[in-house]
Amino acid sequence: MGEHLTQTAIAHESLVDATTNENAWIEIDLDAAAANAEALKHAMSGVELIAVVKANAYGAGAATLAPAFEVAGVDRFAVVWPHEGYMLRQAGVTLPIIVLGHAFPADATPAVRSALTLTCHSLELGRSISEAAARAGVVAKVHVKVDTGLHRFGLDLEAAVALAEQLRRLPNVEVEGLTTHMANADEVDDSFAEEQHRVFELAAGRLPWIPYLHTANSATALRRRELRYSGVRVGLALHGVMPPNTPGPPVTPILALRARVARVAEVGEGEGVSYGLTWKASRASKVALIPVGYADGWRRNLGNRGTVLIRGQRCPIVGRVCMDQFLVDVTDTPGVEEGDIATLIGSDGGESITASEVALAAETISWDVLASLQARLPRFYHRGGAVEAIAPAMW
Ligand SMILES: *Cc1c(COP(=O)(O)O)cnc(C)c1O
Repeated sequence: MGEHLTQTAIAHESLVDATTNENAWIEIDLDAAAANAEALKHAMSGVELIAVVKANAYGAGAATLAPAFEVAGVDRFAVVWPHEGYMLRQAGVTLPIIVLGHAFPADATPAVRSALTLTCHSLELGRSISEAAARAGVVAKVHVKVDTGLHRFGLDLEAAVALAEQLRRLPNVEVEGLTTHMANADEVDDSFAEEQHRVFELAAGRLPWIPYLHTANSATALRRRELRYSGVRVGLALHGVMPPNTPGPPVTPILALRARVARVAEVGEGEGVSYGLTWKASRASKVALIPVGYADGWRRNLGNRGTVLIRGQRCPIVGRVCMDQFLVDVTDTPGVEEGDIATLIGSDGGESITASEVALAAETISWDVLASLQARLPRFYHRGGAVEAIAPAMW
């Protein structure tokens, strides 16, 4: 990334011009992000939309994406670690931010300073939050999580009810929220949600004074209306990627992963390519070198399995994916040359490759494909075809 490409300098540059000299990059479509937020908010008919932007907004870059979601009308944000919340405040986010994961008592002071809503799992943490809030002259909101069967974070029913009552008596704490998380929201048979719903209802019934209830991720929000409660925690669907088995409003993928062909080489019949020579040309072939690898989050097990788009055509990955590069067979795609754009995720002409398709080929899930994309890839944020911001490759 050229150092001259500052945020202001590129403000009106087109995406094509901005990426001319990049080996590989990520494009984030801010128009699509805003449209997805609006479509999902509308689909939730009156329930709050909590944008989950943990893990750097699933690899897309929370510092730019969260402010864009805020403008588009989401109601709150959720992250998992406290420091993700501090980062959102630095990025200028003003809406409430729920920290869904674990916090230590030492997090209380900075969390109160940043007006983060911590999920409180112990009286010790609650006391620290109350003391920090008293010092700051505020009342800090906290949420309590019930473990309704996932057995991940949260407290069992009885312990959650007891803790909520204890927290209620602390002077500078307000127990605003009660929450849980579903175990198999996107499976064909998601009926375990009914058992979890039953346990959550027991907790909510015993804590009727807690005003804000939330239980649903993307799949739950779209499949089980009864679990929407006060707000739904939507991550994946905001990226325009649907969880498996989940119908929903039309959304558009916001992320594209592209690279420029670095070399086109002839491979004779019977010759092999890449480490281990695991693919051998069955005819005189042409292969194109794509300068992206598993260090960028492009999975090693996509070797001999995945495809990329070049000149609007699908080209199969041949041989192993290396740390920084891999090869595709372009024998049947005429005219491919150095500098051509290869689309690893996204659309090119009439063809497109989704994160879900890559996940299937890589034997993982779309969340993992997105969140794995690494910092070496510069992110270009565009709106109306013009580049609005760049998050440079970081070291
Ligand atoms: C990640 C996460 C979500 C969002 O899940 P999506 O499937 O991406 O919508 C919601 N709630 C919790 C607790 C999470 O960890």
